[in-house]
Amino acid sequence: MAEGNSDMSVVADMPDWLNPLPWVEIAQTADVGDVQRALRTNAPGVRDLAALLSSAAADYLEPMAQRALTLTRRHFGRTISLYAPLYLSNYCNGGCAYCGFAADRMQERSCLNCSQVEAELLALKAMGFEDVLLLTGERCPQADFDYLFENVRLAAQHVHNVSVEAFAMTQSEYAALSEAGCMSVTLYQETYDPDAYAELHRWGEKQDYLYRLDAPARALAAGIRTVGIGALLGLSDPRTELICLYRHLETLRREHWRSGVMVSFPRLCDEQGHYTAPYPVDDRQLAQYIYAFRICLPDVPLVLSTRERAVFRDGLAGVGICRMSAASRTTVGGYLPDDATTGSQFDVSDTRDIYAFCSMLRAQGLDPVFKNWDAVFSALSEPQKI
Ligand code: SF4
Repeated sequence: MAEGNSDMSVVADMPDWLNPLPWVEIAQTADVGDVQRALRTNAPGVRDLAALLSSAAADYLEPMAQRALTLTRRHFGRTISLYAPLYLSNYCNGGCAYCGFAADRMQERSCLNCSQVEAELLALKAMGFEDVLLLTGERCPQADFDYLFENVRLAAQHVHNVSVEAFAMTQSEYAALSEAGCMSVTLYQETYDPDAYAELHRWGEKQDYLYRLDAPARALAAGIRTVGIGALLGLSDPRTELICLYRHLETLRREHWRSGVMVSFPRLCDEQGHYTAPYPVDDRQLAQYIYAFRICLPDVPLVLSTRERAVFRDGLAGVGICRMSAASRTTVGGYLPDDATTGSQFDVSDTRDIYAFCSMLRAQGLDPVFKNWDAVFSALSEPQKI
């Protein structure tokens, strides 16, 4: 990987609360003493995270894994919460240089209608899923807010936990999605590096770095129960990205302490157009980064998707990671019985079906959890009229 390039410029666009530079320096210069201190401390903070992300910590993978395992068991038990992505549409007005759905890519496009979405939901329910993530590309005429809203409402009639990963929205749009039954919003900043962000997002609404950065806070302010954040690892210096991600999360937790925040670790993989990651992250590095987050954020759900290979996922399940997608299709219509699919956003690496995946979890002494939320809780948390 490109080592410790901290030339992420703190441009005027980056708010002070996100400034990673003092901690990036620690991540670049930490020695074994700093790593051992970070592993011993009872309440690790951003300084400890920086030490655990450093190259000095690469020699401490085993003690980091042990600590991550202990903390994951303490806070999440021996459970892995499961969800499935459902791609509603692959139309997109976005111009992300690293994505196979970008508007300038030659890609067969489609958009599910209501009966197709319902068929997909039923197929996922038949596998046991009660937690479904609805995805679209950037806002476009084929898949705009109204389309998403209707599909959230439809999905909420079938499954208990509906999440959305789509475009950045206004607070009132998030409030409407919440009313329609959306429990959770996932929105990755992609890269926190403002210069890389400007270069990679070639046109459209997504070019607005600050509007996207503020979107998870808008979602929580609008009543969405949980947000998922992350950086697409590979686009810029990963240690700097992860320190920014940590600071983003801390700010959200401080300002929205009644809400939940989850962290994902998407890593750039092959897609149409063959964009090459300028800062590739290998398996050992990704494992180290996940352990570091678990040690410094013991109660935060950490998520790993089927982008990753089965053997890697098996090793991280319950060792830091407590939430995983399974049996995923990243094509539009991927769960339909006639397999009437169109092109995928990225290739799924872990292609096991739900039975094989759950067998693996059980063989490791972990329980797959398909449902850990019921819509009745939403009603109970509403202020009672007297
Ligand atoms: S990352 Fe999202 S917004 Fe960007 S091109 Fe892909 S689908 Fe569109």
